[in-house]
Amino acid sequence: MTPYDPIFADGPGTGLAHPASYWLDTAGPLPADDGPAPAALDTEVAVIGGGYTGLSTALHLARRGHRVTVLEANRPGWGCSGRNGGFARMAFGRLSFSDMVSRFGLPAAKVLFGHTKASLDNVRQMIREGGIDCDASEAGYLKVAPKPGRAAALAAEARLMQRELDYPAEFIDARTLQRDHLGGAQSFGALRIPDALALHPLKLAAGVLRMARAAGAVVHASSPVTGWRKDGATHVLSTPHGTVRAAQVVIGTNGYTPPGLHRDLDAAMMPILSHIIVTRPMTDADVAGSNFVTGHVLTDARKLMFYWRRLPDRRILFGGRGLIADTPGRTASHRDYLYRELIAKYPSLDGIGIEHDWHGWVAFTRDFLPRIRCAADDATVHYAVGYQGSGVSLSLYAGRLIAARIAGDAAEPAIEAAGHPVRPFPLHRLMRIPQRALFYWYRFLDSRP
Ligand SMILES: Cc1cc2nc3c(=O)[nH]c(=O)nc-3n(C[C@H](O)[C@H](O)[C@H](O)COP(=O)(O)OP(=O)(O)OC[C@H]3O[C@@H](n4cnc5c(N)ncnc54)[C@H](O)[C@@H]3O)c2cc1C
Repeated sequence: MTPYDPIFADGPGTGLAHPASYWLDTAGPLPADDGPAPAALDTEVAVIGGGYTGLSTALHLARRGHRVTVLEANRPGWGCSGRNGGFARMAFGRLSFSDMVSRFGLPAAKVLFGHTKASLDNVRQMIREGGIDCDASEAGYLKVAPKPGRAAALAAEARLMQRELDYPAEFIDARTLQRDHLGGAQSFGALRIPDALALHPLKLAAGVLRMARAAGAVVHASSPVTGWRKDGATHVLSTPHGTVRAAQVVIGTNGYTPPGLHRDLDAAMMPILSHIIVTRPMTDADVAGSNFVTGHVLTDARKLMFYWRRLPDRRILFGGRGLIADTPGRTASHRDYLYRELIAKYPSLDGIGIEHDWHGWVAFTRDFLPRIRCAADDATVHYAVGYQGSGVSLSLYAGRLIAARIAGDAAEPAIEAAGHPVRPFPLHRLMRIPQRALFYWYRFLDSRP
């Protein structure tokens, strides 16, 4: 069987079950959906993709009284939304605040930071309004210096955020970090951002699905969009079961976007695998040896960064993005690589073992910026994609912004930095070759002091 790669595949499959994961094992019963799309359907807004982007769009449109139908190829939350690390952060791709300043200038960077803050507040608000039980905790975020030489830049970032945003970011020195948060061999200080949630991503997706349906949205599973044409002003989408006619279409397919779905998105994204391992629960001795006591969500200051956190049942979730091909052999060796890297951080945990691992496709754009906008030549087509692997908060917020735009609600301003046309990757179908070289280069850069 050819391994699935969104660059080449016709689509992400049809009616597939959620992949095995720690999240699936601990989610409890998942809510009902509306089953496959019928043979003929008329709707006002059709949403392609039933992840956070699509479900949030549907929720916010339905609340305003619009008729909205989600078409999901597999199950709602089947893509990244049901399998991520559960870090809800203030994020616009991977840009730090200093990156925002150098790319857009200080005034625009401040506006953009405000959007990232609003995106996290939106997650809090949705959880509250929907009574979503997704084990959410106000965790905070630590960006850890894995080598002594990386600490100064993190300290400078904290100072910049304090000075320009009056935001309570802080730099935690190595001694304090090791004493109060986490020990190990690679904890040389950290930037602390107090705003971030740790949560159960599949329970969150299930909660948003429930909210969207309760508000009146219809969510069809096992309904991949396999064709798309226009009949006058009406969009006509084909599914294996029939056709869906809609006045407007929203695309929320992100890393799982098949080629040919819409011309704006052809070759526009580089799908990259993100892979997670989960250990057995730490014993008291494990905790004492590693001093892994922090509830913060964690990443490290590296090009090919790792992300990790302590789960409520004391397991460690540890993820990274070095896997290139989704084959059983490569996945197994990447799982071993992630485990080696975890143990390199916490040598005293050697032997803790892996009890779960899974992966999914995140989406990068050429300029590393997410996009939330209308199609270049059709104001009735909207998309939100390219979250650069950090889309929990932004995708839910993007859905809200798209809904506001469709409803003509000017009170929810668009994110200007996400509004530019997407530039396609040249030789997109050959991109796995330079990607391999780039990852070797990143590993070399990350190995330097
Ligand atoms: C392992 C992993 C860890 C991650 N960790 C984090 C994290 O901790 N924090 C964070 O902020 N971000 C994280 N992310 C990224 C985050 O999960 C995503 O940015 C976010 O979930 C994107 O949501 P989405 O709704 O846009 O896309 P998805 O949830 O991927 O949903 C896209 C959906 O579109 C469907 N689809 C595709 N084509 C079609 C079609 N033709 N017709 C119908 N349906 C279609 C797919 O079946 C899929 O369900 C992680 C991702 C992965 C894979």
